[in-house]
Amino acid sequence: MFAKTAHSHFPRRLIAVLTGALLITGAIPPIIAHAEDTFECYNGGLTTKAQAVAYGAVNSTWAGYFDTARSRWANAGVGASFAKISFATSSITAGRYSDSWFGIYMPHGSYYSIKVNIRSLDAKTSNASTFALWSKSTSTHELGHALRLPDNPPTTKTSLMSHSRDRSKVGSPTAYDKANVKYCLGGLPTRTGSTVGATEVMSADYPTYDSLADAMSAADVVVRASLVRSVASVLMPDLSTNTGDARTNPQYGVRPTAKDLQDLRVPVTVSTVQVSETLKGSLKPGQDIKISQLGGQLDGVQYREASTTLLANASGDEYLLLLRKRNDGVYEMIGADSGWVVQRGRLTSLNGQSTNAPFGATSLPILSRAIDPAR
Ligand SMILES: [Zn+2]
Repeated sequence: MFAKTAHSHFPRRLIAVLTGALLITGAIPPIIAHAEDTFECYNGGLTTKAQAVAYGAVNSTWAGYFDTARSRWANAGVGASFAKISFATSSITAGRYSDSWFGIYMPHGSYYSIKVNIRSLDAKTSNASTFALWSKSTSTHELGHALRLPDNPPTTKTSLMSHSRDRSKVGSPTAYDKANVKYCLGGLPTRTGSTVGATEVMSADYPTYDSLADAMSAADVVVRASLVRSVASVLMPDLSTNTGDARTNPQYGVRPTAKDLQDLRVPVTVSTVQVSETLKGSLKPGQDIKISQLGGQLDGVQYREASTTLLANASGDEYLLLLRKRNDGVYEMIGADSGWVVQRGRLTSLNGQSTNAPFGATSLPILSRAIDPAR
């Protein structure tokens, strides 16, 4: 009754005010902070803000980094909390993986596992203080996925979830990220447990490259190749407990439990490809090499990495790949989908959907010139 009275009294004035506001907004853009923000949500996150997480097989140095990550979310003012509980099903751990990604978030139905990759963080930072900043930024970023934040959100604003952020400067949730949490965690149904036969989308944080030339110099080899076969496999970190130090070896002085070992597993698919041409490096035509990519089967569940196209699922028959040689002799892409499908000299994206070819390279001559400007 009250509402009705109010309605009959105010409509004309309300319309006038609204029209005025629209006109002003049209003339002078962003006055209201979140009016222009667009958000996306990641379905692999949980649907509650108050969560519990266990630390897996890490020493006190690394437990300290994870404590910082949890407190950054607790202090974000969005009602999020990550209680550290040793028997929690969700876990955060760290290891020396031979790959280039900095961290992986893996959903398992009603819980998740996070792995932070120290080898890559160590390789990309030049001193202990930068390493600590990057490690904390990565750990806080991964917890953001548990709150349904996606990678590389559709904004030009600074975001903890952007892969191209400066990891030594952006380590805490930003204003945009906080708004994104509020947007994504409004009245959602709880996730149910993942079952055998289910598909889960995990999220890996790769380094980004500013340009084609930048990516070319980061690659150990650049080859044209075709797929021979692919097999599912599991990637484990280097688990030595007495090499390195507490900072660069999270398992230094720590003996992982059976559950820790389970949580440290990363499902990968290893493809054998035959090289037909080498644009960089010394591989010979006809040579077979192995390439490990994120995603594959683990415990009967199919894991897909959000931005990775497995070569077995790529759209063409021949590929141009930017690869890094790992210390075990197996190759990996320098980033997710850092390659092209080659068809009659034209380069297109591996997933067959993106209209933008990676790094803006659309033809073999463009690529050749990026490697050697004299060509
Ligand atoms: Zn991420």
